[in-house]
Amino acid sequence: MNITKPFGSTLDLIGNTPLVLLKGPSEAAGCEIWGKCEFANPGGSVKDRAALYIIRDAEKRGDLKPGGTVVEGTAGNTGIGLALVANALGYKTIIVMPDNQSKEKMDTLRALGAQLVLVPPTKYADPNHFQHVSRRMAEETEGAIWAGQFDNTANRKAHIEGTAQELWQQLDGRIDGFTCAAGTGGTIAGVGMGLKELDENVRIALTDPHGAALYNYYAEGELKAEGSSVAEGIGQGRITGNLEGAPIDTQFRISDEEGLHWVARLLREEGLCLGLSSGINVAGAIEMGKQFVAEGRKDARIVTVLCDSGFRYLSTLYNADWLRSKGLPVFDWLDAA
Ligand code: PMP
Repeated sequence: MNITKPFGSTLDLIGNTPLVLLKGPSEAAGCEIWGKCEFANPGGSVKDRAALYIIRDAEKRGDLKPGGTVVEGTAGNTGIGLALVANALGYKTIIVMPDNQSKEKMDTLRALGAQLVLVPPTKYADPNHFQHVSRRMAEETEGAIWAGQFDNTANRKAHIEGTAQELWQQLDGRIDGFTCAAGTGGTIAGVGMGLKELDENVRIALTDPHGAALYNYYAEGELKAEGSSVAEGIGQGRITGNLEGAPIDTQFRISDEEGLHWVARLLREEGLCLGLSSGINVAGAIEMGKQFVAEGRKDARIVTVLCDSGFRYLSTLYNADWLRSKGLPVFDWLDAA
């Protein structure tokens, strides 16, 4: 049995997450599909890593002083990570979030003591977009820093120095492909850069949801979005600072229906309760696995990210009325309940 050593601080609980072989996805792809369990971070998502790096970086630069405030615009998970790290280090947090994100994330932020500011969801070009509102609030607040996760590359550094190295060790230095979706792009860019440094032959793929512009950018060179998605935390319309120079070799586009199909199967067959970005990532990993198998590489090993837990979406993904209101298929066991 693999028991981790005891830690002296809550912050040491961030990262070093488990890796699990996903049986149904591996069978569907014809090769190994592994999931990095980021829901096991103390704040419940992959974003704890970026939150810790962003705060530590601001401290090092001397921008964040004792008792200061961290301000950020977020779909929620980064805010939860920031609030947790800030609480552990004696800082305050102000979180600006679009009001169409899950109620569970809002309640969690309030429970953690963050000051929550809800804004209507708008396009990035709108001055009232959550990112711009949060930047202005940081400028107007005494002793505050703006985390700026989209363009602040301390975000991807967490994955270059953390996630990528952990994966390499966990799989004894044999990884053929890595794929995940992008919100800020910190995970895909950071893990991609970290793995390529270890082995330049690792294939890195972006898995894009519908409604995001990156698939078309990497396939055709033009940022262009098609369709829409209800997935929270992913779907980007621009090349963020974190995505600049990301080593993306190939790309897949995955629908909400496909993502939900894998969310349902992983729950029922493997006991994993996940958010939709994880389902979309797994569907992308299966596409990548099939690509390797078609090239005659049945021994390929693909890794993706299980970004957060389904418990964060009980009022949406796991609610029959909500799924119906979005025109999405309802898990049959929910209807029977
Ligand atoms: N999934 C979820 C649920 C998220 O909250 C995020 C962060 N926005 C991501 C995936 C994407 O991570 P990243 O910002 O590193 O691209």
